[in-house]
Amino acid sequence: MRDWADVLEANGATPATVRRLVSQLRACEAAAIAFCRLLERWGRGDAVPATAGSRAAALRHAADRIETALAGLEAPLSAYLLELEPERTEGRSWYGGPGAGELVEWRPVLERAGVGACPNRVAAVYLELAVLVRALQGLDDAARLDAAPDRSSLWAGLFDLRDNWLPESAGSPQPDADADDTEALEHTVKEHARNTLVEWMLGNRCTFACSYCPSELHDGSLPWISADVILPFLDEVRRHYADALGRQVWIQYTGGEPTVHPDFPRILTAGNAAGF
Ligand code: SF4
Repeated sequence: MRDWADVLEANGATPATVRRLVSQLRACEAAAIAFCRLLERWGRGDAVPATAGSRAAALRHAADRIETALAGLEAPLSAYLLELEPERTEGRSWYGGPGAGELVEWRPVLERAGVGACPNRVAAVYLELAVLVRALQGLDDAARLDAAPDRSSLWAGLFDLRDNWLPESAGSPQPDADADDTEALEHTVKEHARNTLVEWMLGNRCTFACSYCPSELHDGSLPWISADVILPFLDEVRRHYADALGRQVWIQYTGGEPTVHPDFPRILTAGNAAGF
């Protein structure tokens, strides 16, 4: 059955760019669904996991996953937008604004769950993620009905979503290869300013099913990111951060359980060879 990935593929210029965008968007979609479903369960009075402490841990865990997934989205999405080159960029998004069901008052829900997170922040994140999930579902429907948006609508929708999810990247879709603001951080130990940490979610298969972990984060519904994508990207990271900027690079793989990735030894070896 056709889905949103087919629409992106049909409009993409370079297979490698499409592959990267699709795999990162799938990671974002799974993490967004996990975050939203966790809150929605609490909204229905379903107190999972069983204790307030484990619910707070589950929310933190889901938020960390979405942060990691979104952080990895900017580069492939920017590259895709550049390559899309629509004739007209003033097209309209293929999806509409939030529905009433997405404008939820989360304060009483969080209080009932015993979770001390900022309700305004939770509401903002929930809304942005719900828009992401609904936008991809809209593309799914369009693909099934053979009514995919034209290139300018696709560009406009992806550009809007990019501004929603990655607010600091608002403006031109041109990725700025020289941008590097880590010098602005004050470190007690100056040497630590050289550190760059890359956190990468490789997939969502896991050999455990921890009670506080939403199923979307360990049920194996996502394919592993292929070593054919990972290895060239590690090379790019080395060239940009280590060679050009003189950084000490650390790579932190997450999942699911990243050590069950079928090519994990190869991926580790490549990272070690690159000096990470
Ligand atoms: S070990 Fe697996 S199931 Fe447990 S928290 Fe991590 S990803 Fe989730």
